[in-house]
Amino acid sequence: MTTTDNNKNNHKPSPNGKEIRLAQKGSYEALLRGNAEWVERRLKDEPDFFKTLAQGQSPEVLWIGCSDSRVPANEVTGTKPGEVFVHRNIANVCVHSDMNMLSVLDYAVNVLKVKHVIVAGHHGCGGVAAALSNKQFGLIDNWLRHIKDVYRLHSHELDRITDETQKLNRLVELNVSEQVYNLCKTSIIQNAWMERDDLEVHGWVINLSTGLVKDLKVSSYGAHNLGYVYELDGVVPAK
Ligand SMILES: [Zn+2]
Repeated sequence: MTTTDNNKNNHKPSPNGKEIRLAQKGSYEALLRGNAEWVERRLKDEPDFFKTLAQGQSPEVLWIGCSDSRVPANEVTGTKPGEVFVHRNIANVCVHSDMNMLSVLDYAVNVLKVKHVIVAGHHGCGGVAAALSNKQFGLIDNWLRHIKDVYRLHSHELDRITDETQKLNRLVELNVSEQVYNLCKTSIIQNAWMERDDLEVHGWVINLSTGLVKDLKVSSYGAHNLGYVYELDGVVPAK
């Protein structure tokens, strides 16, 4: 086969007439084959699985995890589609001005009525590693600034760790704890706690070398430990 033939095989007409290059055609098609095989396996185990799935969702868990491809919520927790509502971003950061995260949180807490919100970080997190360095990576530097702020809050501990891997993984843990705290400070979580007592916010870290989750034991059930300035009164004042 000539180079020209190769090029022909790597190009396919797009709907608007222009040619698009499918450099990863093999891996792309593998996704569709994988989907067909997954459907077949599922139906073999549970013939009504998709009929049930199509009727709606009532997950009890909201997972806020890292976008890293190695930490998918369902696989890590051994759960099925329909059991975990998921939001992911780089380094599982929860910022009170992030409308995307707040919308997911509000829907999960107030419409789906989830009982557990889990912030899940992971050892060896590339986002946290980038925040630890002084290199520039582009737009993401502004997002990672939130993690640099976590470092500043805990510099008295982190500055004493000389092993770079240990320092990274400790910052991963501290970042998860701070994001749990950030979630608890939101009006969404505080108002939910005023209405019901079955909502908990947890912090986890996944060890990629073993696959096992470490519960950081920072679970929160109420606003009493937030600190005076963050605690909100129960009623929005009338205008
Ligand atoms: Zn990560």
